[in-house]
Amino acid sequence: MNILVFGPNGSGKGTQGAIIQKKYNMPHIESGAIFRKNIGGGTELGMKAKEYIDRGDLVPDNITIPMILDRLQEADCKQGWILDGFPRNKVQAETLAKALTDAKMPLDYVVEIVLPRDVAKLRITGRRLCVNDNNHPNHIAFDAIKPVEKDGKLVCRVCGGALNTRADDQDDVAIDKRHDIYYDDNTGTMAAVNVFKAIGGKTKVISVDGKASIDAVSASIMKDLV
Ligand code: AMP
Repeated sequence: MNILVFGPNGSGKGTQGAIIQKKYNMPHIESGAIFRKNIGGGTELGMKAKEYIDRGDLVPDNITIPMILDRLQEADCKQGWILDGFPRNKVQAETLAKALTDAKMPLDYVVEIVLPRDVAKLRITGRRLCVNDNNHPNHIAFDAIKPVEKDGKLVCRVCGGALNTRADDQDDVAIDKRHDIYYDDNTGTMAAVNVFKAIGGKTKVISVDGKASIDAVSASIMKDLV
């Protein structure tokens, strides 16, 4: 089963991707997480990507598109994949749609988490990243995934690991830029969503209300995933 997950920054897209991954045991490919891993590891890709990410800009397509298309060719993707954070603009969407057709890789589901921009923004600044595992969601504003306190410090509620914030999550200008890109239905991410919503055929679109709780959002996605 191959799944694309869309949602603005702050919609819980990564959390829902992780829940789907756990249930179906498929690779959860997050473009942003791949960049962050490369930045942490000091690779050439990471160094190139960092300046764009810190500003809230998209990393250029000539870096991002081959990175993701190559990842989809890896052996673990044969049984299916969840792609999260890509495509982020219309060019990436059209390139991906063509690459999937050429590779005879069906797209089974497009999951869209719908969330108004003002709500998404409020959610971003409270999220915390576990240094041990990117799939351990923590958020200071949501009881269900609140970090726990240990020795006067907040630590990961899943594994007790230290927590970080993302520089681009604490920067108002970067947040607004990321949302400008997401909600742009001309050339931005909403345009990419529309490319895949229009694909038809066997591709099923699941649109869910991102204002609901994590469990409710995941229940509405799961009931439509076979
Ligand atoms: P995310 O973790 O999805 O919020 O992504 C963090 C940052 O990584 C974004 O703000 C972009 O700078 C970069 N990024 C992630 N995915 C893409 C993409 N598909 N195209 C270009 N840049 C991306």
